[in-house]
Order: sequence, then structure tokens, then C-alpha cells
Amino acid sequence: MNAIHFDSHTLPTFEVYTARDLDRIPQLQRLPDQMRFEMKIVSAVLPFRVNRYVVEHLIDWDAVPHDPIFQLTFPQRGMLAPAHFDMLAKALQNRTSPSQWEATIQRIRRELNPHPAGQMELNVPRDDEGNPIEGLQHKYPETVLFFPAQGQTCHSYCTFCFRWAQFVGDKTLRIATSQARQLTEYLRRHPEVTDVLFTGGDPMVMKTAHLAAYLEPLLTPEFAHIRSIRIGTKALTFWPFRFLDPNEGDALMRLFERVMAAGKHLAIMAHVNHWRELQAEPTLLAIERLRTTGVMLRAQAPLIRHINDDPQIWAKLWQKEVELGIIPYYMFVERDTGAKSHFAVTLARAWEIYRQAASRVSGLARTVRGPSMSASPGKVEILGVSTIAGEKVFSLRFLQARNPRWTYRPFYAQFDASATWLDHLKPAFGESEWFWHDEYRRMITQRQARAA
Ligand SMILES: *Cc1c(COP(=O)(O)O)cnc(C)c1O
Ligand code: SF4
Repeated sequence: MNAIHFDSHTLPTFEVYTARDLDRIPQLQRLPDQMRFEMKIVSAVLPFRVNRYVVEHLIDWDAVPHDPIFQLTFPQRGMLAPAHFDMLAKALQNRTSPSQWEATIQRIRRELNPHPAGQMELNVPRDDEGNPIEGLQHKYPETVLFFPAQGQTCHSYCTFCFRWAQFVGDKTLRIATSQARQLTEYLRRHPEVTDVLFTGGDPMVMKTAHLAAYLEPLLTPEFAHIRSIRIGTKALTFWPFRFLDPNEGDALMRLFERVMAAGKHLAIMAHVNHWRELQAEPTLLAIERLRTTGVMLRAQAPLIRHINDDPQIWAKLWQKEVELGIIPYYMFVERDTGAKSHFAVTLARAWEIYRQAASRVSGLARTVRGPSMSASPGKVEILGVSTIAGEKVFSLRFLQARNPRWTYRPFYAQFDASATWLDHLKPAFGESEWFWHDEYRRMITQRQARAA
């Protein structure tokens, strides 16, 4: 890693490497040929994109392949099932035709559960004629997720990303809209919505003018019911210059000031996987700048094997966040999609990591909710493992639920040491179904009927 001395006259230019560029990334030339071959195979299926700043300043190349930022950004062989990997390796060796190659890739992608937790069928709202409103998801009454079309990429892609399907260029898999109007028309009809969450991809890849086109309409009296606006982003660590640039960065701070002046709570939901990401000087400057502007900073991240599956890493991450003025918010369980088998941590282990990390920090750093699974019925938090009336169980609850009445009601699952997701669990104490089962089924059937 080289130290970076930043001043506003020497902003680095944004330059990305994608799968095509694997042979021209100088740092990769030090690695064995086999590893580069593996990266080529994996990046044919799963998205790969990393910018030079990350390569040159965040990855510690002396620690590769174990370096967490390397694991976070560069394709790893284990991300594909051996059968898929071999299929592609053979196809390459046999110089298969481009159309056959493409067909194989598509087939493998479809087998990777590209849209977990029913995101497409169940969360995309519909207009009065029953047509899906592209670019929106509305699952919990108070919060609408908005996917601005220009924000459906990222400054670098995370290897484990559950939104990987949006990045591989398959339009049928894309959730986006280019129209601020879709958003405003929907919010006008839904006075119960208080929160809008801009997500992607990374909305911070957008030009400030585009972001303003979406945000400014929400500042008018008509949208007084929108109280909080969140922007999910990884730019704070992957491209902090987004906030520091004398033109685009300045314009962004002015925009944020207008949002706050209109009385809205504005929060950057920073995606930070490892405390190492919070060491770079440009990141510290960007945080300082945002805080001076008055924007609230929160942080969230999934728990990922090979990257941050260690209580020490989380304790240090939360502590550092607190020191920098960032409130630790969510710890997620990796979703059941894409390269999940490579990155998954069992629910039992996730809870241990969470608990042990919390035990090492003061209360100020214990604001994280989790470990939480964003499953189809809701966000399910693992409260713990205990033995009740002789039965070893997971104690669980909804942090968010499709039906708000389910929120915070504890429920119990039979302990399962290898479970990595809600649907691996069974109700404890001889119950045949979860307390929410019937109602959930009814909701799903209704939604599907509306969609048909
Ligand atoms: C997590 C999440 C939200 C926000 O939930 P909060 O508890 O308010 O952070 C909103 N919509 C969806 C679909 C989510 O997964
Ligand atoms: S920055 Fe967020 S959306 Fe983008 S690849 Fe990483 S996890 Fe996925």
C-alpha cells in the first residue's frame, strides 16, 4: 500500500479495471498464472470491476491472497461451484463457440438464484393497472427503496454482492428507472411512506445533477410526509473523491445542505466491511467533510467468510466508526445468492461473532442490529442460542416484517449448527409452522394473483 497525499489539485482520475483487463493490472502479474486463469473463469459469470485507487491504495499486495480488500474485490475460485468452474474451464480449453459459451454462462447464472427473497415478484409495487413500477421496491410500509437508473453500478464491485445480477448486463434482471416521476407519483399516492432509501448499485456513482433531479422534488411541501432520506453507498471507502472533488463534491454538499434545510433527516448509509477501509486519508477527509455539512453517517455490512468473519475485526470496525462519527447500524447475514457458498457463515457462528465483538466494545459501539437475515417475510434477527425446557433453540425476531404486527415478537427455531439461512430452520417446541406462516402465505398468494 502506498500512502496517498491528497490535495484538491491532485485528484486522481477515476479508472476502472473489468474482466477484460485482468492481464493488464500490474499488481496481478506477481500472482501465479493459475490464479489469473481462475479469475478469468469466475469473472465470466460474476461481475468484476475494481478501480485503480482500490488496487493501489486499499489492497495490501504483500498480504494477497489473504488480504481482506483483495478478497472483497477480486474474483476467487471458490466463488463458483466446482462443477460450474470445470464446465467453463473445459469450454475454454475446447475453444467453444461464442454462442455456446454465452449459453453456458447464462445457464450458470440462472442456477445462482439471481433474485433472492422474492425481490422482483414480491417487493416491486404496481400501478392501478397492475403494471410493475420499475425502479421501486416497497416491502415495509414506512420505507420505499429507490433504484435510480444512473446509479446501478458501483465504483468497484464487491465479490459477495447480493445484487450481482444487476451488474452483469442482463436487462431482464435489472431493477431501475430513469424517471424521478415514477418515484414522486408513487410517493404522492402513499402518504404512509416516511423514508426513502436511494440504493443501487451505488447512487454515488451518479452526477450530482442527476441525484438532485431525484432529491429536489421531495423537498417541496407536497412531500412533507417524507421525513428521512438515506443514501446507501460504498463510495466513502471505494471512491472518497466523490465527496472531495472541488466541483462535483462541492455541488453535492450544497445539495445535501438543501435537503437538510428542508427539514429532512439525511443519512449516508456507508457500506464498510473491514476497519482497514477506514484508514485511508481520503476516506477520513470525506467523512470529515460530510460531518461538517451535518449529514448523519451510519454504517452497515454483511458478515462474510474470508473477509470479516472474526469478532476482532468487527469490534475494531465498530470502535473506529464511533471514533469517526459513524453510527454502527446493521450486521447482515450473507444472502442466499451468487457465490454464497464461498462467503457464508453459519447462523450459529454469526451470532457468536456478533456477541463476542459486542463484548469487546463499550455501549457506544453496540448500536448494531443483527446478525440480520433479509428474508422474504422480513428482516430476521438472531437474538441468540439457548436451551429452553431441554431443547436447544435459536431465539429470533423480526426487525422488519411484511406485516408490522410481527415486529419484535420473539420466536424459536430448532438449533441447527450448519444452517446459514432462515429457510434452513424449523420451528422449535414441536410447532409445525412459524407463527407468521399462514398470514405470510396469504400475502404471497395475493401478491402473485395481482401480478398475474
Ligand atoms: C432493511 C430494509 C429497509 C429499511 O429498514 P430499516 O429497519 O428502516 O433500516 C427497507 N426496505 C427493505 C426492503 C429493507 O430490506
Ligand atoms: S458497493 Fe454495494 S451494491 Fe456495489 S457491489 Fe458492493 S455490496 Fe454490491
